[in-house]
Amino acid sequence: MGDDRMKIAKKAVCLCSGGMDSTTAATIAKRAGYELYLFHVNYGQKAEKKELEVISKLKEALGAADLVSVDIDLFRNLSALTSAEAAIPTGDQVDLNAKATPPTWVQCRNLVFVSLAAAYAEHLGAERIYVGFNAEEAQSYPDNRPEFVERFNFLLPKAVASFSKPPVIDAPLVNMFKREIVKTGVEVGAPLELTWSCYLNGEKQCGTCESCQHRKRGFKEAGVADPTKYA
Ligand SMILES: [Zn+2]
Repeated sequence: MGDDRMKIAKKAVCLCSGGMDSTTAATIAKRAGYELYLFHVNYGQKAEKKELEVISKLKEALGAADLVSVDIDLFRNLSALTSAEAAIPTGDQVDLNAKATPPTWVQCRNLVFVSLAAAYAEHLGAERIYVGFNAEEAQSYPDNRPEFVERFNFLLPKAVASFSKPPVIDAPLVNMFKREIVKTGVEVGAPLELTWSCYLNGEKQCGTCESCQHRKRGFKEAGVADPTKYA
């Protein structure tokens, strides 16, 4: 047995939504030699069942060691993303270059999610927490920005036990727009064809919500054929 196989695997928790950003980030983690632990949150988002179906397939495709999905009730009905009464903006209601945060905002979402992922990472002894935060979403969602990642990494060493090595948030796409993420995804061999970006829970991805429009534009601007069959 060679030295590599004798080594204890280094572990990474990958925060996964089933979309192309987190899937590309998880693929980068795999290529960096990490054993992957996929981490998903059900928070009442309309697409939660679809996301989990997709992430189960991604677990196989990426050869991940495990998949954990946790339920939190707090956000149910607090956002257009989670409320049955509130419609998700589609078509012309979406401004892909808006600087203002849209009604699909979920309160402090990434702060809550990376905190949960950090707790799991401390338990596993994982070195890294990979996330798909990116420059395109950072335009209107502040919890995607480099400052957020830097400050969370500054906090983490103060949040773990004396016997734990604090995990580090790794956001490899943090300066990328969707076109660059599509290109990077293709380069690293991310299974983009399996990914689900849509905010809705249809049989197929709607093609008109904000997330679908970002996805479509990303493939188009990257000059990569979009494998998605939209409704
Ligand atoms: Zn959609």
